[in-house]
Amino acid sequence: MSKSSRASTAGRLGKTRLVLGHESLGRVVDPGPNSALQKGDLVAGIVRRPDRVPCSNCAVGEWDMCRNGQYTERGIKKIDGFMSERWRIEP
Ligand SMILES: [Zn+2]
Repeated sequence: MSKSSRASTAGRLGKTRLVLGHESLGRVVDPGPNSALQKGDLVAGIVRRPDRVPCSNCAVGEWDMCRNGQYTERGIKKIDGFMSERWRIEP
């Protein structure tokens, strides 16, 4: 991805930069109150996130098969990626 395309992708949300990194491996720091995860567990963050409509596939948790193309992808499309010291993600 060129520098200009990164800026263009990030700019749609009013940001001037997009944190890169769509692959991830992390260690849980705070699993939250209602999680099956425990502090110290290894996890991989999900890259694609459902659209806000949502379409019929995103509505049932199958956002890799999004039908309307309004999904987001960490580090690729509209939302920051995993190339940071810490990141938070919904299960
Ligand atoms: Zn969708």
